[in-house]
Amino acid sequence: MSAEKQTVFLSGASGYIAQQTVKQLLDSGKFKVIGSVRSEEKGNSLAKNFNSPDLSFVYVKDISSETAFDDAFKQYGSEIDYVVHTASPVAFDVTDINKDLIVPAKIGSTGIFKASVKYAPNLKHFVITSSSFAILDLLRENDHSLHLNEQSWNPITYEDSLKDAVQGYCYSKKIAEQTVWKLGKELNVKFGITAINPTYVLGPQCFDSSVTSVLNVSCEFVNKLIHSKSDSEIDKTFVGPNIDVRDVARAHIEPLLNSEKFNGQRLLLSNGRFGAQSIVDILNEIPQLKGKIAVGTPHSDDDILNRMSVINNEKTKELLGFEFISLEKSIKDTASQILKVEGKL
Ligand code: NAP
Repeated sequence: MSAEKQTVFLSGASGYIAQQTVKQLLDSGKFKVIGSVRSEEKGNSLAKNFNSPDLSFVYVKDISSETAFDDAFKQYGSEIDYVVHTASPVAFDVTDINKDLIVPAKIGSTGIFKASVKYAPNLKHFVITSSSFAILDLLRENDHSLHLNEQSWNPITYEDSLKDAVQGYCYSKKIAEQTVWKLGKELNVKFGITAINPTYVLGPQCFDSSVTSVLNVSCEFVNKLIHSKSDSEIDKTFVGPNIDVRDVARAHIEPLLNSEKFNGQRLLLSNGRFGAQSIVDILNEIPQLKGKIAVGTPHSDDDILNRMSVINNEKTKELLGFEFISLEKSIKDTASQILKVEGKL
């Protein structure tokens, strides 16, 4: 007889990373998922795409209120075995950094954590989707003497974070994650806690129907280059560490399968570094794009690892024990999905 499926409450189920995580949870055959979405319309569209009896939805319109998750947890708390909190604003075109980025991130993680403690007596593990932006020091990205690992925290203060949206986002991820670790200690919780700290997440959307003219923030960088002109300039400031979305999804699930091993860990998901040039170098290997998109100065990013801060995530790799998907595969899979949807393959 097969074991009974465990229930995962996953916030922000409509998101790019969340959909791939829901897919892997359902595909494993081990989990049922209750996903929170902001509207019935989003829930209906996901229900249609996933078409699974093991997926249901609750509506949480705005995580900026500390009680936003209470109704859902009052209703389903006793069924919940695991919580995966992915919901958080990912945007750099905001008008009010505190209200649009920091408050939903901080209050969102406070609210779902407290609701978990109060209403989910059988909870075994809580996973928060944090970010490498809670770890990296963006102002020292070009400092090769700076070494970062799973213990590092970005040094940004609240005051400085209000100066620009990128720093505001970095602070929002740091404070949301720190809130969870702090509450875990203060409330002396008995369940495990893991933070997932992905770098730039690249790779295909879970469903072709999510391929729209503008994609989620991290994929939009690649989308723009796919639609660049052959004489477009390459933005040399666009650089970062990278990880494939399917690996990010998998890293969210491993702690649910082995709570003790992953309890207290931060998983820094990084598989090297890229610049816009590395991406166009890969895109130009695709016959349908070669000669039609930007070329830049081929391979001028190949030494990028020697120029930027050093990310040491050996501990994460050892804990997870699987090979990360290459940047080349992430970019090629992203491009083929977009070209397919646009009828160009
Ligand atoms: P995404 O597609 O924009 O997903 C964000 C999710 O959060 C969506 O479900 C969104 O709902 C929900 N959300 C945002 N603000 C909300 C609010 N105020 N109230 C309720 N729900 C809200 O972005 P993503 O890239 O998948 O990001 C998911 C998580 O991964 C975030 O925590 C992000 O910080 C983290 N992360 C992303 C990357 C990356 O490169 N993509 C890297 C590191 C960490 P709607 O769809 O309804 O807007």
